Amino acid sequence: MNKRWTINEINQFVEKSSESRLLSTEFHGFSQKLSFECACGAQFEKTFTKFKNKHQRKCDVCQPPKASR
Ligand SMILES: [Zn+2]
Repeated sequence: MNKRWTINEINQFVEKSSESRLLSTEFHGFSQKLSFECACGAQFEKTFTKFKNKHQRKCDVCQPPKASR
């Protein structure tokens, strides 16, 4: 059972749980890439799933993706 997120709820989640800011104004589903602004000012795109479940809440500079083996 998946919770249905609205763009407002996502906005609040981003504010509460990260230093990034949500730039997207529409949410169409978990496979959609959302635009964020990192605390450093850089913009990055991520799906909300990654942001929320994989704790990828900063840009690739502040939080480099883990190198895959
Ligand atoms: Zn950054």
